[in-house]
Amino acid sequence: MADIADIAQERIDAENIVRMANINRFNTPSRSTCIECDEPIPPKRQALGGVKHCIDCQNALERRR
Ligand SMILES: [Zn+2]
Repeated sequence: MADIADIAQERIDAENIVRMANINRFNTPSRSTCIECDEPIPPKRQALGGVKHCIDCQNALERRR
């Protein structure tokens, strides 16, 4: 049986990873134009941070997965 302190520590580690990922995302500036088709990316979308694709290309990308 796992020690309760170990479980708590694991949860903290997971939260830190999520937090770091979010910080990296916000530190990465969005492109003002799409990396694929050069269409301008709407400012509202750029505000998300780390955006490289316009909505159309992002949708196409997600459909391909
Ligand atoms: Zn595009």
